[in-house]
Amino acid sequence: MTTEMLESIKKSIRHAMNGAFYQSRFNGLQPEDIKTPEDFYALPLTEKADLREAYPLGLAAVPEEEIVRIHSSSGTTGMPVIIPYTQKDVDDWTLMFKRCYETAGITKADRIHITPGYGLWTAGIGFQLGAESLGAMALPLGPGNTDKQLQMMMDLKSTVLTATSSYALLLAEEIAKRGIKDKIHLKKGVIGSERWGEKMRRRIANELGVSLYDIYGLTEIYGPGIGISCDHECGMHMWTDFMFYELIDPKTGGHVKEGEIGELVITTLKKEGAPLIRYRTHDLTRELPGECPCGLAFPRIDTIIGRSDDMVKVKGAILYPSRVDEFLAGVPGASSEYQVMIDHLNGRDILRLFFETDVPEGEQRKALEKEVERGFKASIGIVPEAKAVSLGELPRSEKKSTRIFDNRY
Ligand code: ZN
Repeated sequence: MTTEMLESIKKSIRHAMNGAFYQSRFNGLQPEDIKTPEDFYALPLTEKADLREAYPLGLAAVPEEEIVRIHSSSGTTGMPVIIPYTQKDVDDWTLMFKRCYETAGITKADRIHITPGYGLWTAGIGFQLGAESLGAMALPLGPGNTDKQLQMMMDLKSTVLTATSSYALLLAEEIAKRGIKDKIHLKKGVIGSERWGEKMRRRIANELGVSLYDIYGLTEIYGPGIGISCDHECGMHMWTDFMFYELIDPKTGGHVKEGEIGELVITTLKKEGAPLIRYRTHDLTRELPGECPCGLAFPRIDTIIGRSDDMVKVKGAILYPSRVDEFLAGVPGASSEYQVMIDHLNGRDILRLFFETDVPEGEQRKALEKEVERGFKASIGIVPEAKAVSLGELPRSEKKSTRIFDNRY
């Protein structure tokens, strides 16, 4: 960590302690006492559950009349988390988003088709602000209504699709099914908010005929747009002029070794409304070494490989969704769509893997199941019961899809 970065962090902590939330969390701390990076690393991590306790506006570090907008992250349980934004926060987010589009080679000549949702969730409006700031044409469709999506895409000649990976796949499949690919003008896809495997990426890219970019972000830290991949497809550049990040071992909280997979922890440097210090994203990734051929000086993290809370232990082996993605990508005949069910039956753990295939039912499909079982054991170390189903039989969703279901507890 540079001295300059430590100073930025201290400034952010000083500001955060204007609010009730960090005043009580860092009770008695003097930001001036933080003299070394180690002093900073000794501060407690902030969890989403902590933010929930600040409902409704307890996270605000500015007077309430300076708040121009709120967003809220979906709480699966109990109270939602409310994130207040000042005008500067909105402007900073817009600037980062514009930078994302520029990194993806998107210009004001583009027409950006926006399918992420609008409302309390940060997604749609971030994609729109960035597009308008770039001077591109924003098409604020929001999610759902596939007929209308495709009609508008054809009539208004959308050149950029922004979507979650599962919705992009759904649209790609629909375009193929309807035989309208020659009427679609898409050139690029900006895909965010969930982990996706190489095979799914290739399918979306091929079926839509576009280059794809991974965009990263979370509502607690502005929203999507705090990092994006470039043409070289080697991880995502993170806008470290707005945040500082660390990678920790989700179990111990200590830093992982260089290049190792860990959980991303973010400290905001410029956020006014709701600054966050050492916030746990629960996203698993690793830092990528060296300079990117694109020349951008911003450091890179790998594509998100999963959630630290999605990591499951079965029969002593560690399983997270991207390992299954990677494994299936190497099996000819298996598609990118799958579901894993883990149950505890008759005193032992059972892992069932359902995957989609275009191999016809019968002997051939049975042979593929056997091959998947053998390969899964060899690469992941767990013996599964594999069951092949036809393409389209597993549920698709417009939101994040859960693929590993642990029914043991
Ligand atoms: Zn790059």
